[in-house]
Amino acid sequence: MNLKEICKDAERIGISGHIRPDGDCVGSCLGLSLYLKKLFPKKEVKVFLEEAADIFSCIKGFDEIGILGQETPAEAPFDVYFALDGNKGRLGAAEKLFEDAKITVNIDHHVSNGPGCGDHNYVDPDASSTCELVYELVEEDMLDADIATALYIGIAHDTGVFRYSCTAPKTLQAAAKLISTGIDFPRLIEETFYEKTYVQNQIMGRALLESMLIMDGRCVVSYIDKKTMDFYQVTSKDMEGIVSQIKLTKGTDCAVFMYEIRTLEYKVSLRSSEKVDVAKVAQMFGGGGHARAAGCTMNGTFHDVINNLTVHIEEQLEGESA
Ligand code: 5GP
Ligand code: MN
Repeated sequence: MNLKEICKDAERIGISGHIRPDGDCVGSCLGLSLYLKKLFPKKEVKVFLEEAADIFSCIKGFDEIGILGQETPAEAPFDVYFALDGNKGRLGAAEKLFEDAKITVNIDHHVSNGPGCGDHNYVDPDASSTCELVYELVEEDMLDADIATALYIGIAHDTGVFRYSCTAPKTLQAAAKLISTGIDFPRLIEETFYEKTYVQNQIMGRALLESMLIMDGRCVVSYIDKKTMDFYQVTSKDMEGIVSQIKLTKGTDCAVFMYEIRTLEYKVSLRSSEKVDVAKVAQMFGGGGHARAAGCTMNGTFHDVINNLTVHIEEQLEGESA
């Protein structure tokens, strides 16, 4: 994919990522927009996202993001529109901007995406992150510390700081090039990945305290209801990292964490080590993701949701031991 070629005749370029944006989503959107602005200083390049956690304000351009729901984008369609880190169905209110654009581009690493939803597609399920794919599209002499900060954060977040199996030699080679721009990478990791606010730690503590082992200890599950979220005054932006912490429970292959986004509607996060393909499980309920990390939204009580999910998790665990 040649971004210069695709964008050369465009006057207005739009970029969006998935709803409830995470580090890879924010990093890839801002990294790409910084690159395109550098490449084409005269063109209008605008990022639209749902409100992201302010830990990402260390990325240049964060303050200029158009917040979906608060800012109504200009009426005229964009010449080129990018959907990053997901399919157009996960763009939320930006889906219409994507559909109305003259040329559409999809860059993603989710196996559940399929071939991609754009006129031009760069979808590679083997890539650690969308930031790694954007990195591959940026010429070496165009890299600078601002672009590197954005892309490094996304790669670090989606690999769990280079721990998950999606980390490949080329992921580390990309990270090496990015840190050679002089970015303060230990601080970026500390402040955007590990550091938690007091209430984030409290809600994490509640989730750990309420967690339960099921399936002979091979699966760990936990949930936080709306009432508890309101008590601690936390929102979905504060729930990042909880499922990974629960997954560290020794002996488990699979972790399920869910929090109530509306009455009897749960945002579900699934993680596994090696035996369960959680993308397959999430896709049964209209979600998606990767084999080791996936998610979906489900209705019902906590017990309904767990019962519906565990049938499919158990099926895979039993299939493996048969
Ligand atoms: P998380 O559990 O951290 O929200 O998401 C884990 C992975 O699954 C991420 O790559 C995320 O983009 C993907 N994912 C989470 N929820 C959904 C969903 O509802 N639909 C799809 N297609 N992917 C999801
Ligand atoms: Mn991602």
